[in-house]
Amino acid sequence: MSTDLPTGTTVPVRFRDDVTVELVKHSASDSDVLWAARVSTAGEQSLEELTKDPERSKGLINYLMRDRHGSPFEHNSMTFFISAPIFVFREFMRHRVGWSYNEESGRYRELEPVFYVPGTDRKLVQQGRPGKYEFVHGTPEQHKATVAAMEESYAQSYAAYQQMLAAGVAREVARATLPVGLYSSMYATCNARSLMHFLGLRTQHELAKVASFPQREIEMVGERMEALWTQLMPLTHAAFNANGRVAP
Ligand SMILES: Cc1cc2nc3c(=O)[nH]c(=O)nc-3n(C[C@H](O)[C@H](O)[C@H](O)COP(=O)(O)OP(=O)(O)OC[C@H]3O[C@@H](n4cnc5c(N)ncnc54)[C@H](O)[C@@H]3O)c2cc1C
Repeated sequence: MSTDLPTGTTVPVRFRDDVTVELVKHSASDSDVLWAARVSTAGEQSLEELTKDPERSKGLINYLMRDRHGSPFEHNSMTFFISAPIFVFREFMRHRVGWSYNEESGRYRELEPVFYVPGTDRKLVQQGRPGKYEFVHGTPEQHKATVAAMEESYAQSYAAYQQMLAAGVAREVARATLPVGLYSSMYATCNARSLMHFLGLRTQHELAKVASFPQREIEMVGERMEALWTQLMPLTHAAFNANGRVAP
């Protein structure tokens, strides 16, 4: 949609209900875990030696996961490019250990008018008390009202942003009017151990030994990262699931 600005200019405002995650760089494989673990007992070995006996490799990774020998899972690296609303990044950046972040700047560039609205499959209604609640689907009317209220509010705040920029106000001041539903983008680099800790807290899964109740939108990011990671480290991912999705 577009919104008419008080200045007379028109800015197209875009709405999205998804998140995107791209694996832009990686050096991560199950053999990295085996290599690091076997230095304890066998010293340095060739990669062929490490992959010679798949059953033994699988068993070793599972043992490390089960007994929470975590450091062999740190000798790898994955860089993701993530596009999601600011409220997701606010939760994401609470993960301090084994993560590096770089996010687009609202001081050095004009922020794009792209905002989050919940899709029709997003459960809208919370039932129960704090610590013991569930989300259920809202009615079509609730969804319609939610989207209409958000779109109107976003359009107004972006118009105010544009008005300030047109009046010569600095981007870093004008951005204060923009809401947390605005999309941002960042690079996030982690290793398998820090990713598993993140996934244990930010996804819900039937195999999880310890239940977590993340906000759906950060879970959507987690699910996409997990799908990419699984392809790189299938044995590690299987052992994570087999041991209750608790990071070692
Ligand atoms: C469902 C859910 C609801 C949440 N709700 C809230 C909320 O209402 N308000 C809020 O503020 N936050 C909230 N959080 C954020 C939460 O408290 C954590 O900050 C976040 O999950 C990151 O976890 P972490 O500290 O274990 O991760 P990391 O920062 O990556 O740390 C990893 C691990 O390193 C160790 N560690 C890191 N820093 C320290 C330290 N300073 N001292 C000792 N050990 C350390 C701990 O063992 C920690 O588990 C919520 C998180 C979840 C998953």
